[in-house]
Amino acid sequence: TGASVRPLVAGNWKMNGLAAQLAEAQAVRDAIAKAAPKADVMLCPPATLLAQMAWTVKGSNVLLGGQDCHAEAAGAFTGDISAEMLADAGARAVIVGHSERRALHGELDRQVRAKAAAAHRAGLAAIVCVGETAGERAAGLTEEVVRRQLAGSLPDAATAANTVVAYEPVWAIGTGLTPTVADVARVHAAIRAALTDRFGGEGRGMRILYGGSVKPSNAKELLAINDVNGALVGGASLKAADFLGILAFY
Ligand code: PGA
Repeated sequence: TGASVRPLVAGNWKMNGLAAQLAEAQAVRDAIAKAAPKADVMLCPPATLLAQMAWTVKGSNVLLGGQDCHAEAAGAFTGDISAEMLADAGARAVIVGHSERRALHGELDRQVRAKAAAAHRAGLAAIVCVGETAGERAAGLTEEVVRRQLAGSLPDAATAANTVVAYEPVWAIGTGLTPTVADVARVHAAIRAALTDRFGGEGRGMRILYGGSVKPSNAKELLAINDVNGALVGGASLKAADFLGILAFY
């Protein structure tokens, strides 16, 4: 299942990118105008570049996303950014529950769920990240952890249109390590089953991205896996040539 859904390849720039980095977005914009990949293409720049990037990609097929949002729409939350603000700046989606937020900012499933609900309230799709640590994997807990994170992090109102799940094993992020094809297939099948159990047809249509050290040289084997409906790409999204090398699969 999930085979007929339109894939999504999203680039997560994390805390990288000064104004000069906009040239990479321009290059992606120009290349996909020609190559027309059969996938949605999204860039998630740091919030400081979002409004400028909205001009850069205006009228193109490049979608924009934020990397995190606050659960409230506005208020006395110094340093935070609401989903409404991201939408206002040109975003169509926002990543929530990235493992770096969970680990470095102590975000729990219920907070991630509130952020996903905030995204929906603002008309954004939520890209909800889940994934096990190396220790959990070694203990044989991968699927249990992922199921628990999904159950706690997805709002009841999640639909195929407003929610994307990103499976990102923590130990594979930024390390150059990736799970085997069989491991990715098993976890994505478990995620699909959990989504279908809870959300029925909407769960069948939700996109499940793989993330963690995706690069041009491994994109083919990872993106061809059943129920892998695209990728969330960190390091390899910073250079247009690498990102386009991944998109070339579609
Ligand atoms: P990576 O990051 O591609 O650099 O491993 C992926 C992510 O954290 O989304």
